[in-house]
Amino acid sequence: MSDDRNSRHKKAMQKLKSHVDQRIADAQEERGLLLVFTGNGKGKTTAAWGTVARALGYGYGVAVVQFIKGEWECGERLKLTEDHNLQLATMATGFTWETQNRDSDRAACEATWEKAEAMLADPSRYLVVLDELTYMLKFGYLDIERVKRALAHRPAEQSVIITGRNAHRELLEMADTVTEMAETRHAFNQGLKARRGIDY
Ligand code: ATP
Ligand code: MG
Repeated sequence: MSDDRNSRHKKAMQKLKSHVDQRIADAQEERGLLLVFTGNGKGKTTAAWGTVARALGYGYGVAVVQFIKGEWECGERLKLTEDHNLQLATMATGFTWETQNRDSDRAACEATWEKAEAMLADPSRYLVVLDELTYMLKFGYLDIERVKRALAHRPAEQSVIITGRNAHRELLEMADTVTEMAETRHAFNQGLKARRGIDY
């Protein structure tokens, strides 16, 4: 690299550093966060489990509530349930298009949401993941006001991650961090099967 390019690079990095340092100094508030991972692209649940591993790594108490996906096997669950700091609740029924019964789905949702409410009130849970919760609101099995109330009254130090497509507008408004996974391409659309250890 020429001296000229080197000095320009150094200048740009110094500017970036002072900008980042200022942003870090400006961030004063410290509390649990509400994060929503939504959109049609792959990675919502994966990102949530990645954060679960991150929190467990520090010995924090974590709860994961799996709406919809109850009967599916998944590798992360097999691995992370070895950790006694992880509590897990899964909805007993499978996908709604498998059960095709609104009443039993609604009852399963209610039972699972009650477990979620207990976790959202438990100060020993540093992180609570509500995986695929968005569909419960979308299908009308769960009332948005009830969800908002439980989120608003959770312990101040507790963070919550909600995943799923088509997140409710009010959840997006309430969230501190919203990530929209964009689908640029998905293997499934080229006829490729979901892959063990990669997709589940
Ligand atoms: P993942 O669990 O892989 O992080 P996700 O949570 O973002 O995916 P979901 O909508 O919950 O996505 O999808 C559940 C399953 O469908 C996963 O096995 C995932 O790999 C697969 N999947 C995710 N996105 C797509 C897509 N755009 N098209 C087809 N299948 C998808
Ligand atoms: Mg998912």
